[in-house]
Amino acid sequence: MNPLDNAIAQLENAAKKLGLKPSVLRSLKKPKKVIKKKLQIVLDNGKKKVYQAYRVQHNNWRGPFKGGIRFHPESNINEVKALALWMAIKTAVANIPVGGGKGGIEVNPKELSKTELERLSRAWAKAMHKYIGPKIDVPAPDVYTTPEIMAWMNDEYMKLTGQKNKGTFTGKPLNQGGSKGRDVATAQGGFYILQDLVKTYKLKKPSIAIQGFGNAGMTMAQLCYRAGYKVVAVTDSKGGVLNARGLNIDKVVKHKETNGKLKNFPGSKAISNKQILELNVDVLIPAALDNQITIKNAKNVQADIVMELANGPTSNQADMVLFKKGILVIPDVLANAGGVIVSYFEMVQNAKNVYWSKSEVLSKLKEKILLSWQQVYQEAVKNDVNLRTGAYMIALNRLLKAKK
Ligand code: GLU
Repeated sequence: MNPLDNAIAQLENAAKKLGLKPSVLRSLKKPKKVIKKKLQIVLDNGKKKVYQAYRVQHNNWRGPFKGGIRFHPESNINEVKALALWMAIKTAVANIPVGGGKGGIEVNPKELSKTELERLSRAWAKAMHKYIGPKIDVPAPDVYTTPEIMAWMNDEYMKLTGQKNKGTFTGKPLNQGGSKGRDVATAQGGFYILQDLVKTYKLKKPSIAIQGFGNAGMTMAQLCYRAGYKVVAVTDSKGGVLNARGLNIDKVVKHKETNGKLKNFPGSKAISNKQILELNVDVLIPAALDNQITIKNAKNVQADIVMELANGPTSNQADMVLFKKGILVIPDVLANAGGVIVSYFEMVQNAKNVYWSKSEVLSKLKEKILLSWQQVYQEAVKNDVNLRTGAYMIALNRLLKAKK
């Protein structure tokens, strides 16, 4: 399923429940601005290469557009539009005063040298600098973008505009105005919700499978492992590893650092990115890309809980199948909101030029995300809908209130 169709279907489910007028629904569906730019950089071999870049500004009724920039070979305008819409919902669910946007470059960053990556990152900031700023649109990291990339972009932006406030980008390195805790925030937010579920359902040493071993997936694996949960399988883009008795995640992380991949971790069996979704575990955590659980494989999902750390991993049709099977899906717009919540904290710290300790950041994050979780749960129960539709209903109400 095309991610944009999926995002719109999810939005429509909630709009229907709320009885929104077609004109209102249209204004929620449509991005405010779509910016497409070609970026030309000089490669290390002296040749020139052009890359397609995007920024989609979906909605700013509640505050400046906010959302990451993705560097991925399969990045495309439909995906960026979907991701921007999801950001608008997510920031409203989290109740932080920012809106939704997203950016991207169609590139495989693994094929670039560090200097090429820097040139490309600076080129993105240069092409987009007129459209962004602390009160206009605040980008951040996403798939395959890092604090270092944010530092290059922010530096380029500040040079071009003479702007002194560092808050045009979030997810920056700590010595460049970053916030403590931002690096772990996406997983940490989901983990607070997971801890609550483990307590509520009295799960003893829950078994966990995690698809994706980037910032979100790897940090989640570490948090689960340290909490004494049994992480039985993890995968990265090349496939992954399974050990039914539980993986030692500290050792898995070291193995990945030395070998560049998870495969062949001693004492484990190989598992594919497809197979991991169908494991018989308590909690399945998709933490990679969109459109992983679809109408084709939803019936094979055996987990009791699906926690969406990725954006858009479950298609709208698959959602219905999981709901009927009684699987509890913690939707992306809630489960992975920790990242943007701490990004917002970073904006606040940049504006005041006052910096908080990690424990301060994390306790504020915990309070915020657990409150959203409680609200989403109650909304879903009250309206007899799944958690995703409950989350969207809350978000749409908040968006419309801001518009008024
Ligand atoms: N890219 C992250 C997300 O999808 C974080 C966005 C942000 O911090 O602005 O939520």
